[in-house]
Amino acid sequence: MEKNCIFCKIIAGEIPASKIYENEYVYVFNDIAPKAKKHILVIPKKHIKDYSEIQLPEDDKYVIEMVRAIQEVVKTEKIEDGYRVVTNKGKDGGQEVFHLHYHILGGEKLGGIC
Ligand code: AMP
Repeated sequence: MEKNCIFCKIIAGEIPASKIYENEYVYVFNDIAPKAKKHILVIPKKHIKDYSEIQLPEDDKYVIEMVRAIQEVVKTEKIEDGYRVVTNKGKDGGQEVFHLHYHILGGEKLGGIC
């Protein structure tokens, strides 16, 4: 738990969130400012700053559970036929919250970015 981290506070229940799923390793919730019809965030319950700060093999379980959560949630949210998974790293990558997260975007035909 990082004192000034908004996502750590969501995990701790100190800030409300629209939770979709959680287990011992991950927390999944709706983005507060959706950029697509469905915009879901998947975060590890350990404060990892960004993608490049993932330590392997120590963080293996978090990485695996994030992938598993994405694969499950796209089914329960009924977007498994088409969606996008994105993680932003650093200011140039568009990162605003410095707690690792995967965006899942879907629920509509997405415009191309890459
Ligand atoms: P990024 O720009 O990749 O760091 O993405 C941060 C995301 O977190 C943005 O899409 C924000 O809309 C979202 N966000 C920020 N605060 C909250 C919050 N309290 N609850 C849900 N989503 C949030």
